[in-house]
Amino acid sequence: MDVIIGLEVHVQLNKLKTKMFCPCSINYHGDEPNTHVCPVCLGMPGAMPVLNKEAVKAGIKVALALNADVQPFMVFDRKNYFYPDLPKGFQISQYDHPLAWGGYVTIETEEGEKKITLRRIHMEEDPGKLTYKGSITTASYSLIDYNRSGVPLLEIVTEPVMKSPKEARLFLNKLRIILEYLDVFDGNLEGAMRVDANVSVEGGGRVEIKNISSFKGVEKALTYEITRQKNLIRMGRTVKRETRHFDEANNITVSLRSKEEEQDYRYFPEPDLVPVYAEELIEEVKQTLPEMPEEKRERFRKQYGLSDAFAKVLVMDIKMANYFEDVAKTVNPKLAASWIVDVLRGELNYRSKDFTFAYEKLKPEEMSKLLKYFENGEITEKGVVEVIRTKLDIGGRVEEIIKEKGLFAIPTKEIEKLCREVVEKNRKAVEDYYAGKKQALNYLVGQVMKATRGRADPGETAKIIKSILDK
Ligand SMILES: [Zn+2]
Repeated sequence: MDVIIGLEVHVQLNKLKTKMFCPCSINYHGDEPNTHVCPVCLGMPGAMPVLNKEAVKAGIKVALALNADVQPFMVFDRKNYFYPDLPKGFQISQYDHPLAWGGYVTIETEEGEKKITLRRIHMEEDPGKLTYKGSITTASYSLIDYNRSGVPLLEIVTEPVMKSPKEARLFLNKLRIILEYLDVFDGNLEGAMRVDANVSVEGGGRVEIKNISSFKGVEKALTYEITRQKNLIRMGRTVKRETRHFDEANNITVSLRSKEEEQDYRYFPEPDLVPVYAEELIEEVKQTLPEMPEEKRERFRKQYGLSDAFAKVLVMDIKMANYFEDVAKTVNPKLAASWIVDVLRGELNYRSKDFTFAYEKLKPEEMSKLLKYFENGEITEKGVVEVIRTKLDIGGRVEEIIKEKGLFAIPTKEIEKLCREVVEKNRKAVEDYYAGKKQALNYLVGQVMKATRGRADPGETAKIIKSILDK
């Protein structure tokens, strides 16, 4: 049974300063409910919306980056529906003259590259936020916070072209990377990206799962829903066309209502806003488009001589890519890439942190300094890891950590001297070695390690002792 998935992704343009149609700040996270509000975003009678030009520019930027056909003529419409998160009784959205048509996002699946085509992208205002005590289906009341009401939102609608929950997740990951490159979106903020997923199994009706708030949630909700629909069809029952809610706590979807039709929304042009003639804005924004992940990956390979594997990982996160370039200013880029991708990234993941944290705790200049010591053979690999961990967990200056923890590597000449001394002092082990007892070599290496308190490289030390003995 074939599966068809289409997504409607709601993206907050949450790096802007003010709301879509009023001057209220959108930096409300962590603030008291209903403190970032005014007559416009509370939907008071007679309050007039004023379009935020920066939001339109940000929307155009996203649409261009997603290869969509940005429209020079846009109209805002009223989408009428009755729900407590919407004080006006309608949401200002776009209907037949949206921001953009078409576009695509390329994902890498196991079978190779796949283009996820987009149907349309439109701008709208975010509704307020409802909080239920317990679950949406059992709560006896809900609380409303209008701080979110009027936050600039993009709705990105894909064609129904995804074949599995995994493809949906890959698409959302890639979309998030692109949005963060454009500097219009912070995916770490609560509610930054919310997804409605449409899914149907061959022979059944289309089901919409509303308002899933995490990437993992999308994959889980779809997986559950596909199994549910397949089971119904196998039992000879029909899959009803309806809207369902994903219960994140129990990992199941539950029926909310039968699906509303578009005509239920009674769209009509918003009489308080004039249409947008965007031709000049589009040209202006085109000039400001930054380098996108694919271009950066290509440049990293050419400019720094990185392998494609390293370049690919580095560009997955704009902050990691920038961090790398800052370190590579003064350190061999290949060395920088491997330490950042293989070690630092892992240490950050382990602490559930990202490169914002690295910028705070282990600045690129400090990382460069540390890797310089390593390049010059003044600190061992183990020592570098130790400094990275100390910097992330405790802090301090790189040189001082190395000194305090005794991490400076011992120069090769000194190691050679120590090896000769150990060979002199341990005649019994040397005789054993000549007699063919291989573990005698390990014993001698152990003596050097002991004398250096583990600061010598065991492999190197073994080589040196062997060369002395075999002379
Ligand atoms: Zn307001």
